[in-house]
Amino acid sequence: MEDTIEKTMINVDVVIVGAGPGGMTAALYASRANLKTIILEKGLPGGEVNNTADVENYPGFSKIAGPELAHKFFESAMEFGAQHSMETVVGIELHDQVKHVITSKNIYVAPVVIIATGSQHRKLDIPGENLLSGKGVSYCAVCDGFFFRNRHLVVVGGGDSAVEEGIYLTQFADKVTIVHRRDSLRAQQILQERAFKNDKIDFIWDTTVEEVIGDQSVEGVFLRNGKTGERYTYPCEGVFIYIGLVPNSSLVSHLDITDEEGWIITNEKMETRIPGIFAVGDVRQTHLRQIATSVGDGSHAGHMAYQYIQTLAD
Ligand code: NAP
Repeated sequence: MEDTIEKTMINVDVVIVGAGPGGMTAALYASRANLKTIILEKGLPGGEVNNTADVENYPGFSKIAGPELAHKFFESAMEFGAQHSMETVVGIELHDQVKHVITSKNIYVAPVVIIATGSQHRKLDIPGENLLSGKGVSYCAVCDGFFFRNRHLVVVGGGDSAVEEGIYLTQFADKVTIVHRRDSLRAQQILQERAFKNDKIDFIWDTTVEEVIGDQSVEGVFLRNGKTGERYTYPCEGVFIYIGLVPNSSLVSHLDITDEEGWIITNEKMETRIPGIFAVGDVRQTHLRQIATSVGDGSHAGHMAYQYIQTLAD
């Protein structure tokens, strides 16, 4: 059905897919270099920053609400004439020196495409998880925490997200139990210290969640201690899952620019192996995923977009 709709061809210099911190910074740099730039984003600009209550490790702000920072990024991105359109990209095609970025309405034709599609929370892939998603199973404390006032919650994971969001949830919940598969956390030390000091947080170590139990809503989790082999039901009213990220890179899976897990491989200039295709932010193969690193990526890509287009003119 979609394929039969006549699409409008729109020529630009740079198409940015995704309006998180990386994509928006790339737009700022590219448009400031006088390139005709458009950001395509299916949701609200800001990406994962919109789901962050307080950001306290972005320079210049001792503490700022995630959505407020996202809005500031958006204002900066638009400052030098970049455009923004709320459209879902359904395909990317290579045509000699230009690329076609295809949405349900339009085909954007450009020499440069910057992939800034980010990542999403990994699922546990256990019985009950999908069934009870939205009925007590959540991947977003900022979106859903409010609904768990005075409840007992389980948070799964041991990284920055699990610990930070676990702390955030204590403002609503009576008790937050962090269930982690090992006996030490991966999270930054400052977050660990805050969690250990918080009276509402306790930990179940060396333990994995094997099932989410409940009928109309979450009633508990079925746990297994990896060291003792003990299996038992643990009652709770909500389960927040923070066990890492998976890349949103299916759009480029045919381009052979990802590693075996789907993260996009770039060099330090954010160039992929395909000339004119760049990647920035969380979707990139990197060992640190922060707002600050995405912003750095975006500035490189926006600058390199300009350099690449110069070489085409030569
Ligand atoms: P992460 O750092 O990859 O941590 C994932 C956690 O989940 C690890 O503790 C891991 O255990 C555990 N895990 C993975 N698969 C599991 C499974 N199948 N069952 C049970 N546990 C499992 O992911 P993240 O915490 O979502 O963070 C993602 C990125 O965002 C990181 O780069 C992080 O630094 C960044 N981030 C930063 C901030 C901040 O700066 N304030 C906040 C949030 C996120 P092991 O430890 O045993 O591997």
